[in-house]
Amino acid sequence: MATDLPMPAPRGAGPTLPDPIKFVLNWGRKYSLWVFNFGLACCAIEFIATSMARHDFIRFGVIPFANGPRQADLMVVSGTVTDKMAPAVRRLYDQMPEPKYVISFGSCANCGGPYWDSYCVTKGVDQIIPVDVYVPGCPPRPEALLQGILRLQQKIADETVSLRGGARPGPAPTAAALTAPPVRP
Ligand code: SF4
Repeated sequence: MATDLPMPAPRGAGPTLPDPIKFVLNWGRKYSLWVFNFGLACCAIEFIATSMARHDFIRFGVIPFANGPRQADLMVVSGTVTDKMAPAVRRLYDQMPEPKYVISFGSCANCGGPYWDSYCVTKGVDQIIPVDVYVPGCPPRPEALLQGILRLQQKIADETVSLRGGARPGPAPTAAALTAPPVRP
């Protein structure tokens, strides 16, 4: 079962950098997100639609040309994660360099979706890797992925950066912050 996989250690360690340097580093990180699309089912088509000219997530600094997980900052898991595929998802996540981020895109990746009672579907990719942002829907529209990207960028901007190059999550967002409209870059 996918739940047998141990969770990765938390990000970041050591003394933290001063605020001006943190701002510059986080600004660079949030607007140069090389993305690795782990497309597993129908939701992957919506990811592709979001990368095309009509929605164009490159304008937000998301670059869909990572050669593979070793060159990626962001993994978007879009589609149904089966128990058989789960170790591969985890293995490729482990190959990504820190700091790295994950968006769970669609109901299947979030919680199993329509296959919530299937004997062979992992009920949420967060059972095997840490997830930064969940995008709901079956499938979510491209606009939902754009909003998820903006949420992730807000989260990156709040991160504490350590001297060892790791990034730590900032303070947990309040309920008001989670329901507020995203800030446009
Ligand atoms: S959430 Fe819906 S659209 Fe997305 S992969 Fe699952 S069944 Fe397909």
